[in-house]
Amino acid sequence: MNIYLVLILISLAGAWLLGAISRHLDAKNLSREVPEEFRDTVDSETYRRSQEYTLAKMRTESVEETVSTALVIIFLLAGGFAWADNLVRAAGFGPIATGLCYFGLIGLLSAALGLPFSVYNTFVLEKRFGFNKTTPGTFIVDRLKGLVLTVLIGGPMLAGVLLFFGWAGAAAWLWCWGFTTLVSLAITYVAPQWILPLFNKFSPLPDGELRTMLEEYAQREGFELTGLYLMDGSKRSTKANAFFTGFGKKKRIALFDTLVERHTPEEITAVLAHEIGHSKLGHVRKMLVASILKTGLLFWLMSLFLDSKGLFAAFGVQETSIYAGLLFFVILYTPVSLLLGIAAGALSRKHEFEADAFAASTTGKPEDLVSALKRLSVDTLSNLTPHPFTVWLSYSHPPVVRRIRALREA
Ligand SMILES: [Zn+2]
Repeated sequence: MNIYLVLILISLAGAWLLGAISRHLDAKNLSREVPEEFRDTVDSETYRRSQEYTLAKMRTESVEETVSTALVIIFLLAGGFAWADNLVRAAGFGPIATGLCYFGLIGLLSAALGLPFSVYNTFVLEKRFGFNKTTPGTFIVDRLKGLVLTVLIGGPMLAGVLLFFGWAGAAAWLWCWGFTTLVSLAITYVAPQWILPLFNKFSPLPDGELRTMLEEYAQREGFELTGLYLMDGSKRSTKANAFFTGFGKKKRIALFDTLVERHTPEEITAVLAHEIGHSKLGHVRKMLVASILKTGLLFWLMSLFLDSKGLFAAFGVQETSIYAGLLFFVILYTPVSLLLGIAAGALSRKHEFEADAFAASTTGKPEDLVSALKRLSVDTLSNLTPHPFTVWLSYSHPPVVRRIRALREA
């Protein structure tokens, strides 16, 4: 049997198995007792509901991962990738256009596979627990806008990569790395102004107690607070959030309207302090460098496997091509990408503790952040007792109880 095929099947099944183990451990770890830190915030009825929500999400995820893993394996073994290749070749376009069609076709199939799950999550699961605010109209328009953006941004990027691999010889991976990095940086730069407003309304945070408090804090910390916006998060969900985006002059801080509604100005200041901590402690820069290095590794490894006959044979494709090589390599890369994801998660969790400590020491009031975190977790019915294995495998943030303990111990 083809060694690449064996590796791919093992890694697809392995990724599925890790998810299944993590869900099993999480379900076993649901404790009847409310964690001590939450006894004053959560009543037993809400706690029971949060566990129901955790279990319901787990069941949906389990069905989704099982069905999609099975379908990908069936598609692969039944020669689906070769069928798609013959189909796009028959159109008789040049190598780059053929490649774009190939990715487009496989991308559409994969989106079609994900769509029913996405509909179920939004309109059944999230609705049942009172979170969903997305109307069918918004849902459809979101998908269409996403599709247009993928074509407009992803299309030229992919065309560039195909062009470099077809033309630049041994140095192609370096060209691809430089090119995709530049395009991604440019998009991150313009996104707050051009892309995010396509999905949400951003209005400057109005003057008042909250704005004054945030500005005073930022001024004390010598942080230039440009672009402080209120975002209509309530258009899609009742869940609250806040984020920093972009860099340089186009940087934006967005507070969800749901956050402002449900939290005190002191709590929101603590959340802002945490976000400023990420920026001041160099986390944003470090994560950016890590992601650029990750892209470099991907292209370098890709260049080593692109014309491996064995890789094409694993997918039942006789005629080699750059575009199919790219796609097949990305699938072969699954375990590496999983390991890198675990490493990035560990780094990100470390950063979260550091940003929490920054917020606690600069505001001088760790309890403000504690109460913000508690309210956020209770309002979103978060799982308060995830198993350490799940945290290790997939959490970008430490479990909230551990964050609260760290804030109180400092
Ligand atoms: Zn954070």
